[in-house]
Amino acid sequence: MPSTKILILYTGGTIGMGHETPGDSGSPLIPQGWEFLQKAMPTLSADGFFTKEKGIEFTYKSFDDVIDSSEFTPNHWAQISEIVFENYDLYDGFIIIHGTDTMAYTASALSFSLQNLGKPVIITGSQLPIFHPRTDAISNLSNAIHIAAAKVFNLPVIPEVLICFNDKLLRGNRSTKSSSKDFSGFESPSFPEVGSLEQSIQISDKYTLEPPTEPFNIKPNFETNIIIITLFPGFNSDILSRLAADKKLKGVILRTFGSGNAPSSETFIKALKLLVDNAKTVLNISQCQEGFVNMKKYKTGTNLYNCGVISGADMTLEAATAKMMWLLGNKSETHINELFSKNLKGELSLL
Ligand code: ASP
Repeated sequence: MPSTKILILYTGGTIGMGHETPGDSGSPLIPQGWEFLQKAMPTLSADGFFTKEKGIEFTYKSFDDVIDSSEFTPNHWAQISEIVFENYDLYDGFIIIHGTDTMAYTASALSFSLQNLGKPVIITGSQLPIFHPRTDAISNLSNAIHIAAAKVFNLPVIPEVLICFNDKLLRGNRSTKSSSKDFSGFESPSFPEVGSLEQSIQISDKYTLEPPTEPFNIKPNFETNIIIITLFPGFNSDILSRLAADKKLKGVILRTFGSGNAPSSETFIKALKLLVDNAKTVLNISQCQEGFVNMKKYKTGTNLYNCGVISGADMTLEAATAKMMWLLGNKSETHINELFSKNLKGELSLL
């Protein structure tokens, strides 16, 4: 039987959590070691279904300190990128076990840091811990294994970072956490699902990225001096003027109204112009889950365009944040505006 090799990296998350005080279901959930998770999933063992029946060889790695994903930083994104890089030639696919809270941020960040990716990197986790009698962990992990070890199951090999959760396979940088209670915790509001995992697995290969033509490498630098501002009626423009004076600040993501609109008051426009003139990259994304930033549609959007604000098109907040951090961390400032408008890794649609 041909052997397929899969690297599973455990970072933490609810999937492997147990109660701080064992036996007390009222005590907070905290991450447990890999053994806790592996013990609860017999199909992963050497004489379990995947290895014995399908010839899949698993290697397990774990963060030294497994964490709730709310603790994730760009250093963790870099750490994952480096682990994938060091092991790239040895494995056919990678599974990252991750908490759901910031999973879509990590998926977006990895889609940029893993350059010329030719193998599946599948991120999964669960809403209920693996010890829970109604846990979704086992099916999520089994589904992720099917996508990562695609060839064994006669499925297409998808050269992308994907989130595999509940019965959905979603492009990582198009995903967002939509529910903290439903088993279906993630959505892809502006891009079709790449696959569905019902009784049979269907992959829509017209929605997957083309395999790369250049060798795999990583660019795991992320700039953290950025800020996200959500506009609301009554927003005080002085805050923007004060930010413009912050010498360390490199980028601002403005979450605007509808199709990318904002107040056209003189004070707001002046403050915005000051930000752009003080070499801050300002990106416009919409507060709407679905839709597209078009700053030429309304006069209230044109003002932003004229100030030099960049359109975030239909990017999710997570993709926009990761793209800004990555571009500012890796590219020379002269290219940033141009690269923002480009579809680099399937993260945005072009008008
Ligand atoms: N707080 C948890 C985490 O993100 C939630 C989860 O995994 O569902 O690590």
